[in-house]
Amino acid sequence: MARNPNGGNKRGANKVPPEPRVIRLIMELRRLGVHDQRVLGAIEKVPRENYVAPQFQDRAYDNIPLPIGMGQTISQPLIVALMTQELEIGDRMRVLEIGTGSGYQAAVLSHLCRRVYSIERHAQLLQEAERCFKEMDIHNITSMAGDGSKGWPQQAPFDRIIVTAASTKVPDALAEQLVEGGIMVVPVGRKGFDQELVRVTRSADGIETKTLYPVRFVPLIAG
Ligand code: SAH
Repeated sequence: MARNPNGGNKRGANKVPPEPRVIRLIMELRRLGVHDQRVLGAIEKVPRENYVAPQFQDRAYDNIPLPIGMGQTISQPLIVALMTQELEIGDRMRVLEIGTGSGYQAAVLSHLCRRVYSIERHAQLLQEAERCFKEMDIHNITSMAGDGSKGWPQQAPFDRIIVTAASTKVPDALAEQLVEGGIMVVPVGRKGFDQELVRVTRSADGIETKTLYPVRFVPLIAG
């Protein structure tokens, strides 16, 4: 299906106007507290429909989480946007993501930084995500299958780290892979309830944590 309603119009051919459902989502995110224009721009650029299963296509731009197989979920766009905003990402930065899942969050990050490193424990999900990155012509994501709870020592340190699965405590191993001045966001808590998003900042003096707001993520499974 041609997505450009002005398909025949050569003027600005590379600038396809966003679909109404994308505009609606962006407006909702703005209303709910996403004010960073770069983050909203990145969300606008990533076709979420490519990262959800065919049976959920008509809900791809609803502000809800959706199943992606293997009992995992693609996060709610609001949470993707808020967590990304919290990271204050600069365009020269290297960002580590734990929990590639559908690849949607990584794709959003890829528009904001120099390189995204992403780790997923389900090889099958990772394969599908990598297929999407290729199809979308995204070339600054390096991904691997494995246990992300130990980070990616060979590629460390990172300017930013985002964990998209809930850890029972702030993961020290990951905090240690931040540069000085680096920021990590991580959901902390038990499966299904009492989870809160925590922002971790690393300085010369050590690690500082700040609890932000309640969230709900699938668990980070170590090993
Ligand atoms: N960021 C994803 C959402 C992922 S859901 C997206 O945008 O779609 C959380 C993901 O974390 C799941 O795919 C799960 O398999 C993965 N995960 C859980 N524990 C992990 C671990 N220790 N290492 C790597 N990935 C893990």
